[in-house]
Amino acid sequence: MENLSERDARHIWHPLTQHQTHPAAWPIQKAEGVYLYDEAGRKYIDAISSWYTAVYGHCHPEITGPVARQMQELDQVVFAGFTHRPAVELAERLLGLLPGNQEKVFFSDNGSTSVEVAIKMALQYHFNQGKRRQVLLALEEGFHGDTFGAMSVSGLSVYNGPFQDLSLEVIRLPAPTGKNNEAALEMARKMVAEHAVAALIYEPLVQGAAGMRTLDPDGLAAILEVVREAGGLLIADEVMTGFGKTGTHFASEQLPLKPDLICLSKALTAGLVPMGLTSCTREVFEAFLGQDTGRGFFHGHTYTANPLACRAALAALDLLQSPAIQEGIRHISGQHEAFARELDGHPMVEEVRHCGVIFALDLKVQTDRYSNFRDTLYRFFMDRGVYLRPLGNTVYLLPPYITAPEELETLYAAIRELLDTLEAGTYAG
Ligand SMILES: *Cc1c(COP(=O)(O)O)cnc(C)c1O
Repeated sequence: MENLSERDARHIWHPLTQHQTHPAAWPIQKAEGVYLYDEAGRKYIDAISSWYTAVYGHCHPEITGPVARQMQELDQVVFAGFTHRPAVELAERLLGLLPGNQEKVFFSDNGSTSVEVAIKMALQYHFNQGKRRQVLLALEEGFHGDTFGAMSVSGLSVYNGPFQDLSLEVIRLPAPTGKNNEAALEMARKMVAEHAVAALIYEPLVQGAAGMRTLDPDGLAAILEVVREAGGLLIADEVMTGFGKTGTHFASEQLPLKPDLICLSKALTAGLVPMGLTSCTREVFEAFLGQDTGRGFFHGHTYTANPLACRAALAALDLLQSPAIQEGIRHISGQHEAFARELDGHPMVEEVRHCGVIFALDLKVQTDRYSNFRDTLYRFFMDRGVYLRPLGNTVYLLPPYITAPEELETLYAAIRELLDTLEAGTYAG
């Protein structure tokens, strides 16, 4: 009899995977709280909250309960023409938490579509006013998703290399890190002077897929100001940073300029079901009004505002705003800070950084971003009951907010052991 990995390999094409060289997929049977359980019954701490989604822990009864009840009442209905309570309540709740200038929400299916919607809204916003502004600004090494528009504004070439010539008109600015603020700002000034810029898209404070790169808030704020001054819209992609990751509900709260459009997904539905959402200001929304049908925004996905997803998102907001979760976020941030101090200056550590519940370190080793080294690192941590996905030489943590201090200590201990092994030169990878 074939095992599950073999049956998988026979028929399934996995995401972000080179099947010729990639090890077999690991069968996971169950998830509960901070743990994933494999078919053999071994358990692993989900140190990246399953790609930043399950931040309240897996199969949380306060999420699954309301969704199960919703399932008995209204499963799915067309959202063009109809509305329903979960969608209306979610819009009300979310707009109460988002930066104050946000007034409308548009539902879609995932992070990429939330970005796609924001880009199309920004382009049509100018078009509807008779302005030809089609250039998009983005930050180098940013990641915004895999659909064509989202891929165009992303800077990671392993994803978009084959499609380079087919993308939207995009200019990439250096991501301001504190050391290059002046150069990045200078470039932004030059680009808005020379091009008809429709919008800037950016990941506020932390660039996730770039290896949890932290941005300098002042450097970023200065760029946002230049773009807004020049009449470009600001699109904050909070798909990763949203819902508490950076210590505040949204990373945009920590920047002086409020964005015109905000993209949300991932933790929006607590890891239960997919949903994306784009919020915008009244000004953006009103640019689409008129007697002419074509002035409207003709974009819509079949599962728009799915009631189960909306119910999951509402339950997630209850948790996010609960004292226990807020205490968890503070606690993890504090423990990360102490661990970062401990590792600073370690001979095998190039750089260590943290922001809210996000912790990352770059190993002092030579490696390609997507080399086999990361498969070996991955294995090293799995053998120690820790699930994380290193990016090149970057090891990062984004644990669920319910991770207990001693569970966090297990993650740190595995990282310490890796560093010691690398330092002693006994590392087999
Ligand atoms: C993951 C991510 C996306 C894409 O979301 P998907 O749901 O994978 O399509 C977009 N932007 C950022 C910042 C992300 O982290």
